[in-house]
Amino acid sequence: IDRMSRLILELLDVSRIETGRLEIRREPIVWAQFVRDLVHRQHTAISDRRFHVSIPDDGRIVTGDRDRLEQVLANLLENAVKYSPDGSDVTVTVEEKADSFVTAVCDRGIGIPTDELAQVFERFHRGRHVSSTNYGGLGLGLYITKQIVERHGGTIWVDSKEGQGTTFYFTLPAEEPKHVTVQPTAMAQT
Ligand code: ATP
Ligand code: MG
Repeated sequence: IDRMSRLILELLDVSRIETGRLEIRREPIVWAQFVRDLVHRQHTAISDRRFHVSIPDDGRIVTGDRDRLEQVLANLLENAVKYSPDGSDVTVTVEEKADSFVTAVCDRGIGIPTDELAQVFERFHRGRHVSSTNYGGLGLGLYITKQIVERHGGTIWVDSKEGQGTTFYFTLPAEEPKHVTVQPTAMAQT
């Protein structure tokens, strides 16, 4: 049932994207903290993987949609786990740039053949070493992921060596947090 509902949700997202109805909410997200919490939660859910994180203490924010950005990270983590052997390392890093964050998810799995790298973000693309009998899925996760990243003003790319592993990178614009000033009148009322 979980797998079926996931497939249906993916298909609904594709139809939203195709018809320009994918809504992105805008709220401030403290990015480093958000990624750390999310990896921690996934780590507890998938306990046979060795997750490593390298995330700075950076208080800057990404303005975006929490649920959609969680979907981006969950898709990349899911692929990293799905296409790598049990017990292998998965590393998540956040790198601070002048006006952006570069987030990366790295695995030591089956990798992607060089001639397929250009297609991984296409709708319904599945690698030739990836059959539906050994790995489930429709080939939509990365297509949706790319759309979400781009709608947040970011870019996504992949670096991979067949048989050695894969790293997905994406950028998101970083901003200084806006400090909310408390009005004296509002304080008097509380
Ligand atoms: P789903 O729609 O459930 O995500 P999927 O995982 O097959 O299905 P994508 O996440 O879009 O679809 O990935 C597309 C293809 O890219 C995969 O079928 C696989 O061939 C390749 N791929 C993606 N991530 C990795 C990875 N970390 N290592 C190796 N191959 C990968
Ligand atoms: Mg996937």
